[in-house]
Amino acid sequence: MRPQSTYRGRFAPSPSGYLHFGSLITALASFLDAKKNNGTWLVRLEDIDPPREKKGASAHILKTLAAFGLHWDENILYQSKQTDYYQHIIEQLFKEQYCYYCQCTRAQIKAIGGIYQGHCRHLNLDKNHSAIRVINQIQIDQYSDLIQGKIQCDKALAREDFIIRRKDGLFAYQLAVVADDIYQNISHVIRGCDLLEPTTRQLSFYQLLSDKAFRHVLWSAQDESHVSKHLQAPVFGHIPLAITEQGYKLSKQNKAPAIDIQKPQPALFAALQFLGQQPPIDLKHLNVDEIIQWAIAHWQLESVPKKQEIQLT
Ligand code: GLU
Ligand code: ZN
Repeated sequence: MRPQSTYRGRFAPSPSGYLHFGSLITALASFLDAKKNNGTWLVRLEDIDPPREKKGASAHILKTLAAFGLHWDENILYQSKQTDYYQHIIEQLFKEQYCYYCQCTRAQIKAIGGIYQGHCRHLNLDKNHSAIRVINQIQIDQYSDLIQGKIQCDKALAREDFIIRRKDGLFAYQLAVVADDIYQNISHVIRGCDLLEPTTRQLSFYQLLSDKAFRHVLWSAQDESHVSKHLQAPVFGHIPLAITEQGYKLSKQNKAPAIDIQKPQPALFAALQFLGQQPPIDLKHLNVDEIIQWAIAHWQLESVPKKQEIQLT
């Protein structure tokens, strides 16, 4: 066996529905890039939003990944088990005066143009009926994407104090995703272009948590074997989104077709084509593990189309 590299990638689905063709493409791209680089590939279930969760989806997602030959290394991380860790980060943010309670409604923010302007930052509101926002001092608004090149995000959006815990008490995606990419010592994030812009927030939040005031919270939670002494944000690569002929994003919400777990080959082949990998036609007749072996050996991140969307025909 070749030695493992320091590459650590992950696929992080939310169990709000079964995997569809769009999420299969993301899983496959992150898996292949990790394996081609001799790295470790992890699966993390982002199950921190019970109202949006579909019963049985987590188990079904894992079954689907296995059927498609996408075998993960290490244990699955369930975000629902990470809440003490998230809470400790929030407590530390309060202690360092990096966050505050906010009671603004969506309608109020919409009325001022859709970007939150820090209204509650100095009001010292109490926690009842409040969301928690982070004081966003770092405001990274650009980065270099492995696939899409230089990304410039809207400056006003990059300056916004964003929500890390929602009014309903649930932890926000932005907090959990960064906390767990740190926890799992992720070096590479390959995912869909719908997250191209939020990445700047995640980079800002990473940098905020690099402050040494957070070391003890982050390190004590981390699995000893992953502890790295320097908190370094992962590099990001965003793959095009599959959209329908009508121009809609395939999603669990618009009831994109679930993929066929009994007959994975056609979807696997189509996913490789979508990712610009030019699989030879005979590949269709091989079994799943053989297709995956071919795909790892021939994987070229440079061949993934540099587009934000691709229409499925
Ligand atoms: N859980 C998120 C989703 O399913 C993806 C998170 C990520 O890849 O950063 O959209
Ligand atoms: Zn507010």
